[in-house]
Amino acid sequence: MKRDGNHNALLTILLSAVGYLAPFLARCADAPIQLSVDAREISRRILHARLEIPAAPGPLTLLYPKWIPGEHAPTGPITDLVGLKISAGGQTIAWRRDPVETCIFHLDVPAGASNVEVTLDYLLASDPTGFSAAASSSASLGVVSWNTLLLYPQGAAANSITYSARLQLPEGWKYATALPRSGESPEGIQFQPVSLETLIDSPVMAGAHLRAFDLSRGSQTPHRLNVVADSAAALEVSAEDQGRFSNLVQEANALFGAHHYRSYDFLLTLSDQVAHFGLEHHQSSDDRGPERMLIDEDIRKGWAFLLPHEMVHSWNGKYRRPAGLATPDYQAPMKTELLWVYEGLTDYLGEVLAARSGLWNPTNYTERVAMNADMLEHQRGRDWRPLVDTTDSAQLLYAARDEGASWRRGTDFYAEGGLVWLEADVTIRQQTQGKRSLDDFCRRFFGGENTGPQVVAYTLADVINALNEIAPLDWNGFFQKRIYSVNKRAPMGGVEQGGWRLVYRDTPSDMLKVFETDHKLVIVADSLGAVVKQEGEIVDVIPGSPADRAGVGPGMKLLGVNGRRWTQELLRAAIKETKTNSGPLELLIENGDTFKTCRLDYHDGERYPYLERDETKPDILATIIKASAR
Ligand SMILES: [Zn+2]
Repeated sequence: MKRDGNHNALLTILLSAVGYLAPFLARCADAPIQLSVDAREISRRILHARLEIPAAPGPLTLLYPKWIPGEHAPTGPITDLVGLKISAGGQTIAWRRDPVETCIFHLDVPAGASNVEVTLDYLLASDPTGFSAAASSSASLGVVSWNTLLLYPQGAAANSITYSARLQLPEGWKYATALPRSGESPEGIQFQPVSLETLIDSPVMAGAHLRAFDLSRGSQTPHRLNVVADSAAALEVSAEDQGRFSNLVQEANALFGAHHYRSYDFLLTLSDQVAHFGLEHHQSSDDRGPERMLIDEDIRKGWAFLLPHEMVHSWNGKYRRPAGLATPDYQAPMKTELLWVYEGLTDYLGEVLAARSGLWNPTNYTERVAMNADMLEHQRGRDWRPLVDTTDSAQLLYAARDEGASWRRGTDFYAEGGLVWLEADVTIRQQTQGKRSLDDFCRRFFGGENTGPQVVAYTLADVINALNEIAPLDWNGFFQKRIYSVNKRAPMGGVEQGGWRLVYRDTPSDMLKVFETDHKLVIVADSLGAVVKQEGEIVDVIPGSPADRAGVGPGMKLLGVNGRRWTQELLRAAIKETKTNSGPLELLIENGDTFKTCRLDYHDGERYPYLERDETKPDILATIIKASAR
């Protein structure tokens, strides 16, 4: 019978869970797990690891980290865990992968054994698409993410298991990490024993060309910008930029009033061979950008949000964390509803801090806000899904294709969460006649006393209560309307009440140009309704736009414009001429192995987003981005 079968299955699971748990709990909980990583072949994309795990005879279950903190998804690269061998006292132990959970391995520890030895290899990716499991090394540098190189016993929380790690790097490479070191020998760098949580929270960045810049500016707490790059030239950070990064440290600490790290290390990897992203940690951040990010002014401006964003996460995300994301280990699924606070507020504060620290000038900031607002206006998926549905399905959207992004929506909780928090900030300033701001909320919610790393979980009610202590308002209604309801328009209240409005002009802003160059895109979303790669692939078409109505779709390829082979310049010129041409704009399109001409009925010329001052209102945005610590 079906029902009885289900009951039996449940009973079996419960009994086996107890069976697996008991020997682990019986073992000496204090003995650290020894982890040795050989990263000498990181440039050829293979790492070797060896673990000694204390264990008592009987069934043992070992887990590979699956849900990766900060990635908000089950992105542990289990496919690239290879060469797994387990033994005890020189005797090979057979293991079986769990039939349902592919990151779980079952084995039996033989009688008389007090520990098991695990050896494994990890294959690093060369594909730069993704996060910490994507391309992480080049010929002269690499990032070691400990979660890719270890197993841990089932049944204990990540903050209650101790690991003692050792790491061998290629000859002559330097390294930087927040992980405390106890010594160095020919066998490698020996790190102090730490919890599994701290180990995974502390990646190591290494390479032949590495420089560290002191950002402390006399403060008791060490703050460092560590940069590794594919060339020595890429490390020539100007004194002016070093000053801006020091400003960032000061502005962030002024914003929150206290910090929850003993020291803070930016681990910045500059390489065109690795994935470009940032991953937050309590006392460091794994930040990766283009090789010329600190020596090319355009690239610097385009990426100036990255370090502020990741540093804000030390407070918003690592210290204070939504209860659904504060999981006990790496197997429990994360509940991602409150990512609009975790990521949305961080997006807002990161961009504000980029401006307050001088990494952006005020024009860079307003151009960036205009781009965000404009992108959100194009997300036609807002016709069918509320913002909270993008947070609830974050684990899917992080991995979604670019094609169809408008109708699907993407991880909009970053930029749209940012606009909602801007509106919250402007609202508080208006309600309190400028006496209070979101800075006060930040100090109350994320500040307190200086401490070392710790996690304090929160719920939506906690956020609302803290906001009410700053400025009483129906904050629940405020968020229900903007986050939890379908909204056909992007939330522009913060921009408009802040003294600005979204307008369109016929040349792209500097920040938009930088974005297009960096992402190798031609964005004509506000005129034709399309985003095109520089090679002609059509990434997306906005539903209801002229391109959409003419039959152009994502996944097709642009070949020609008005009878000529297309170039970026020709396309923009043709769009400009639509104002005076009465006929349609013709695009020759390749779709698989067929060709067609699409005729776009469009006559408004080029259109690109900007913010424009609304002189009838006070300029609250200018007040928000004014430096406060200097
Ligand atoms: Zn983030």
